[in-house]
Amino acid sequence: MHPLRLWLMVVAIWLASVSLAAAASLDTAVARYTATSDGQAAYVQAVAAHFGAVDNSASKASSGAADDDGAGRARVERLLRPLAQAAQLEPPLIVVTARDDANTYALPGLIVVHRGLLTLVTDDGELSVLLAHELGHLALDHPVRGIRRSQRALYFTRRAARAKTLGEGAQALVQAALHADLGLHEERAADAWAAALLPRAGITPATAVALWTHLEAAGIPDDTYTHPSYAERKKLYGHALSEP
Ligand SMILES: [Zn+2]
Repeated sequence: MHPLRLWLMVVAIWLASVSLAAAASLDTAVARYTATSDGQAAYVQAVAAHFGAVDNSASKASSGAADDDGAGRARVERLLRPLAQAAQLEPPLIVVTARDDANTYALPGLIVVHRGLLTLVTDDGELSVLLAHELGHLALDHPVRGIRRSQRALYFTRRAARAKTLGEGAQALVQAALHADLGLHEERAADAWAAALLPRAGITPATAVALWTHLEAAGIPDDTYTHPSYAERKKLYGHALSEP
């Protein structure tokens, strides 16, 4: 065999084993921090610490809590429960942060909601449209796939796997999740997933269209590069939801 070919083969095998090891440690980390109660508590705390949440206790959509942000989180839990049920999914972990910007994100097994979003979107139906979109990211495994695609995220995944304590590992997983890139095609897929789910949870097309109109009027940027434009989203949800 030509030395160059042998060298290329060695490099290919090395790359394959590195990405296999990273994929395995990612699955292990996600399972540890989303499926065990100790892991969940550490994960929720790491997310809360990153975003500056007032709420530091682990919570699933099935349980409530009384603290500073209890009312906000209780609302998110109450709205996520029927959506997860309609989709036959485990309710995700939830962190409501003290941030004032109106935003929400999906991390592996967990949905982050900024308090600013809860203040801006006072209509429960409209908030459900956004939560269904985030749940769509989880159902379609986008956060984990986003981590797998990003070298920078894989670096933190390896740190999560080697961490000495649950807290350290949880922090590394949160960093990995924040470095995961979601593409426009994934945003469209989450929108299509949500639009198909919402009628089953009793949300009408008018509510979805009203949400995008409301966010646009409030001057919230539509992030054309990472999310579809408001015009596209109004069309998609309006169309998909009005189909029988
Ligand atoms: Zn999204």
